[in-house]
Amino acid sequence: SPRLYSGMQPSADSLQIGNYIGALLQWRELQRDYDAYFSVVDLHALTQPHDAAELREKTRRTAAQYIAAGIEPESSTLYVQSHVRAHAELAWILNTITGFGEAGRMTQFKDKSSRYGTEATSVGLFAYPVLMAADILLYQTDVVPVGDDQRQHIELTRDLAERFNARYGETFVIPEAITQKETARIYDLQNPTSKMSKSSESHAGVLWLLDEPSVTRKKIMRAVTDDEGSVRFDRDAKPGVSNLLTIFSALSGRPVSAIEDDFAGSGYGDFKKALAEVVLAEFEPVRSRALELLDDPAELDRILSVNAEKADAVADATLSDVYDRVGLLRRR
Ligand code: ATP
Ligand code: MG
Repeated sequence: SPRLYSGMQPSADSLQIGNYIGALLQWRELQRDYDAYFSVVDLHALTQPHDAAELREKTRRTAAQYIAAGIEPESSTLYVQSHVRAHAELAWILNTITGFGEAGRMTQFKDKSSRYGTEATSVGLFAYPVLMAADILLYQTDVVPVGDDQRQHIELTRDLAERFNARYGETFVIPEAITQKETARIYDLQNPTSKMSKSSESHAGVLWLLDEPSVTRKKIMRAVTDDEGSVRFDRDAKPGVSNLLTIFSALSGRPVSAIEDDFAGSGYGDFKKALAEVVLAEFEPVRSRALELLDDPAELDRILSVNAEKADAVADATLSDVYDRVGLLRRR
């Protein structure tokens, strides 16, 4: 079956509801139809300031949440990026065929580097999209499910694969992005015009998968709305209520219009209470399974180790081919 690749950075202790709706729910479905690789991309996380012990813990926690949310480590390949050395090695080779100007045009790099300033911006951050290309190309990936924010990086991945193939002979499959439905972009509950993110500065508007249920309920009840008082989807005029409707719809599987009808004439309080029930019903089993997995780190590490071996075998075959083609003398 065709191959799929996706991943998340271990940038927080818990995933947030946007990661759940925008990525994990899709992954869970897609893994049935694809030979799926899901990675916890810890090498990417090194491009941000971090604490070493915390990064290790966040990596385990991210993997546990993948499994708790329904990624099956027996049929899919769920592994930690740094466990497979070929990622860093292929990234180096791809660096040598990437233009300096080409990498400099990546909008995520431009945003982040302008925030940090030139001195605080690392070469690693600059080369981040090239490492991402290596992640994808190592597995001869057919499809990459990503949010809009990652489209440009997938374009770069395709360009690099085509360039390598043209220069050195057919080596890589050219991957396609699968972008999720428009409804799968979740915004911050306190600031409903900006994307909810793991690395948001304020946590008040972020729904964490591993939050206590009482905390989740409180955050939903305090979500920013508007003065109109009617439960109606209008992204421009009513970003807060529209975001809550998006979440309600994604988790209940019902269209937004049906939910609007259900709450016609009710106030925001009733709507939010119902939403909290929907969110908690979804989160609770995931949360308790994740905590259970985290209680037995040796077993989690064993699962990750078996999966890293599966990934290693595929990645090594690609890397070996690449080394031959670019003319590296192989050790005998
Ligand atoms: P960070 O702040 O560290 O970038 P993040 O929350 O943006 O964290 P990523 O690790 O960048 O998460 O992305 C993981 C996956 O979750 C990607 O597929 C991304 O498109 C998706 N995703 C992230 N945030 C949202 C969101 N608010 N709504 C929908 N999907 C999202
Ligand atoms: Mg992100």
